[in-house]
Amino acid sequence: MAELTVTDVRVRYGDVLAVDGVSFHLASGTTLALLGPSGCGKSTLLGSIAGFVGIESGTIALGGRDVADLPVRKRGLSMVFQTHALFPHLSVLENVLFGLRARRRRGRLTPADRQAAAAALALVRLTEYRDRYPEELSGGQRQRVALARALVVQPAVLLLDEPLSSLDAKLRAEMRIELRELQAATGVTMVYVTHDKDEAFALGDLVGVMNRGKLVQLGPPEQVCREP
Ligand code: ADP
Ligand code: ADP
Repeated sequence: MAELTVTDVRVRYGDVLAVDGVSFHLASGTTLALLGPSGCGKSTLLGSIAGFVGIESGTIALGGRDVADLPVRKRGLSMVFQTHALFPHLSVLENVLFGLRARRRRGRLTPADRQAAAAALALVRLTEYRDRYPEELSGGQRQRVALARALVVQPAVLLLDEPLSSLDAKLRAEMRIELRELQAATGVTMVYVTHDKDEAFALGDLVGVMNRGKLVQLGPPEQVCREP
């Protein structure tokens, strides 16, 4: 588990300052819900933490270490996207094992890896579905597989980019509760990007509101203005 400290980060695409001097500190095991309109820089900020978007200036530190000194593989991050991107030809269990295989020499899994995959599937309540294929699952179940795949590597920080936005309202409400339970069970630090206010205020220990690349509000949900 790790604390995450982002200090004065800027990201530029040509003339566009997509992230314009963002700073925050997130304690280990807590969730930052990042809210804001489309195009305000949420995904770019997440990408810069994940390491696939380069920053122009500022620093990002995980557990006190500047990520610039850490190869992407060693950052202890997992990411979940809006569309689950499961491999259609792999079973649920094989999809979850995929993330581990990629980290093992010649893809060789250990008995501990198989236990970890079983535990991750249990955590998202999909044990019974381990031998099914993605096309046989509902949208919510697929997104749970994506979560299990992200969690199986025991990341210090879990980055989620609109992970529930492809689901219907009822399922989103259920998954919110599950995400809180998952966090309590794993102690993972989460950065959760959404444009859904209810979701942000329900999930965040901290709510951050972005506008035009800047973090214009940051605080516990009860201190953040819902109608900026
Ligand atoms: P969002 O749902 O976050 O608003 P977008 O539709 O803005 O997503 O962006 C989808 C993808 O396209 C992202 O990977 C983003 O980095 C990329 N993208 C967004 N705007 C541009 C742009 N002006 N030029 C090139 N790529 C872009
Ligand atoms: P959000 O996630 O809040 O929708 P993004 O981070 O996707 O916002 O985009 C922030 C800004 O950066 C937007 O103006 C978008 O068009 C631009 N942008 C995002 N990705 C790219 C890209 N790959 N190339 C150029 N511009 C981009």
